[in-house]
Amino acid sequence: RKAEEEARRGLPARTRDGHEVEIGANVNRPDQVAVALSQGAESVGLMRTEFLFLERGDAPGEDEQYETYRDMLTALEGRPLIVRALDIGGDKQVPHLQLPHEENPFLGVRGARLLLRRPELLETQLRALYRAAKDGGAKDGGALSIMFPMITALGEVQALRAACDRIRAELDAPAVPLGIMVEVPAAAIQADVLARHVDFFSIGTNDLTQYALAIDRQHPELAAEADSLHPAVLRLIRLTVEGAERHGRWVGVCGGIAGDPFGAALLTGLGVRELSMTPRDIPAVKDRLRGSDLSALKDAAQRALDCETADAVRALDGGAA
Ligand code: PEP
Ligand code: MG
Repeated sequence: RKAEEEARRGLPARTRDGHEVEIGANVNRPDQVAVALSQGAESVGLMRTEFLFLERGDAPGEDEQYETYRDMLTALEGRPLIVRALDIGGDKQVPHLQLPHEENPFLGVRGARLLLRRPELLETQLRALYRAAKDGGAKDGGALSIMFPMITALGEVQALRAACDRIRAELDAPAVPLGIMVEVPAAAIQADVLARHVDFFSIGTNDLTQYALAIDRQHPELAAEADSLHPAVLRLIRLTVEGAERHGRWVGVCGGIAGDPFGAALLTGLGVRELSMTPRDIPAVKDRLRGSDLSALKDAAQRALDCETADAVRALDGGAA
């Protein structure tokens, strides 16, 4: 029985009509990779590097970061790894960075905005990443991709790309696919513009929901209303996929809803190609997708987009999707 269960976890998330979705894990440290693989992860779709900076008195230097990224790649044995550049601000505060107090940190200097204002943070991280890519040997940087958080405007993407190009040239490192998190409504609405300038999108539905519905993602009283399957959020996801498809880019989701079996089904129907989640959520998501037909998921996604409320979307669960 146990062996059967393990074999099932290793099967791809292929729908009955043959459509395959990549299943990634959200993993922050090399020693967590083994557990993710045992749950059936095919990649790491989100490595949150803030965790390298937390619970310590200083920032990790270039060598320490390089070793961590290299160890992640080694543990993954050639499977894809998406490392997200530092996403500090909002709910993720790091005392030793001594950032000024903000009245509204979720609307302040967060993610990419901080990286562009603190070039030493960005440069150290990019140097460590390109060194790890260089080690990977392959011409295209091997399995590594870099992703930037909290992108709102094209100018941020251009500035970050320029920093990547410069550091890559300095280190004579291979090119690495560059992606962005789509987690601000402006980025979803302008996805067709941004897609021209990046290799992939990963939708951060936790923040996208927070910013679309104007509900603090940690608000104790409003948590139940912050539903990532709200039709308004689903429409933003659909816009993101349409914008990406226009330029031949792929779209993943690494927010919490990717690990919800019904959410994963709707996202697949909306055209999302990769789902990255907490490792323990993987088996149920794979089972759900393996029991579905893409054609039915597309119909369900269309019905969800047409729903008037989040409750109506949730009520579709148990139907064809
Ligand atoms: C998200 O916002 O959905 C996301 C994956 O990023 P984080 O939860 O780290 O903000
Ligand atoms: Mg986020």
